[in-house]
Amino acid sequence: VTAHATALVQTAPEKFDFRELPFPDPLPPGAAIIRVEACGICASDIDAFEGTDIDIARMGDRRFPRITGHEIVGVVERLGPPTKLRSGLQEGDRVGIGPKVSCGACEACLRGEMTHCTGFEYPQPSYGFIPTWVEPGLWGGYSTHVYAHPRTALYPFDADVDPLDATLWNALGGGIQWAVRNTGTTLGSTVAILGSGQRGLACAVAARAAGASQVVVTGLTRDEHKLALAREFGVDAAVDVEKESIVDIGRELTGDRGFDVVVDTTPLASQPLIDAVEIVRPGGVISTVGIKLSGVSDFPIDRVTTKGLTIVGGKPATHEAYAQAAAFIQEGRFPIGRMRTHVFGFDRLPEAIATLRGDDPSRKAINVVVTPTMS
Ligand SMILES: [Zn+2]
Ligand SMILES: [Zn+2]
Repeated sequence: VTAHATALVQTAPEKFDFRELPFPDPLPPGAAIIRVEACGICASDIDAFEGTDIDIARMGDRRFPRITGHEIVGVVERLGPPTKLRSGLQEGDRVGIGPKVSCGACEACLRGEMTHCTGFEYPQPSYGFIPTWVEPGLWGGYSTHVYAHPRTALYPFDADVDPLDATLWNALGGGIQWAVRNTGTTLGSTVAILGSGQRGLACAVAARAAGASQVVVTGLTRDEHKLALAREFGVDAAVDVEKESIVDIGRELTGDRGFDVVVDTTPLASQPLIDAVEIVRPGGVISTVGIKLSGVSDFPIDRVTTKGLTIVGGKPATHEAYAQAAAFIQEGRFPIGRMRTHVFGFDRLPEAIATLRGDDPSRKAINVVVTPTMS
């Protein structure tokens, strides 16, 4: 019986070593050791890998060493003494690990906004970002095992759910938050989603599941495989914005009315945000998700004012969104796993990151998952 994890530990931007970290012994009440089965990669893992993640401003090099990876699914291997919160949990259960740890008592937690918690011992208490110097160190998914804190939210999956599919609960939780919960998308809503990466596709799936009558997704010419999957997922239009104008198509599809909701998932580009103001209906909602790394020049703020628009920032998904996403995947009625294009062992993390980043466009990556095996 092993009493340690083998983890890929990040010591600096783009620098990783395999290290052995002991399990905490004894485990505190309500804590657990989860044997990792799979860990998804998203855009924030690319930032973490490159060392450009938002913790750079707050923490500098004190971010390291850390185990990255926060879209974690695994099986309960050890349990601390039972608590009321964990009374239903047993060794062998498959769970998704809520990426945020919250204190339950700071002002944000007391407002019910656990994702803005400031009371944990580390300023961004998110799996994949907490350094190993915060005990017991096992806070990331690129590891054979991860520590579930007594207050970590765990989302159950049955034994018959493919753990690779289950990792998509994280992306889908984001989609539910950004395209549904933050925007009021409901039966009959018309929704445009700008960008067709895994976040955009997750938004499309969520909007459709919430009852939207019209869902449109955009992408670039190099995103053709993503637009094709969006069509397979049943969107009403998948638009290559290098060949067609989303403003013209929006007018055509909505009969000049505009979309109830526009979600901008595109990173870096500012034109989609300007387009969003144009294609959303008066009184509609724009949901911003993509990180731009700069301001938006010539942003038509007067149009926002005169159209009476609401702009809502993405913020991390809430517990409700993750719970809905986990239940949706557990039901198994939707082929969410079609998003997955690549699986790598954790010794090939640089290649997995490069694949998701699109360094080699011929790989046509959408969702990339890492498993704690050697290739
Ligand atoms: Zn993520
Ligand atoms: Zn708190």
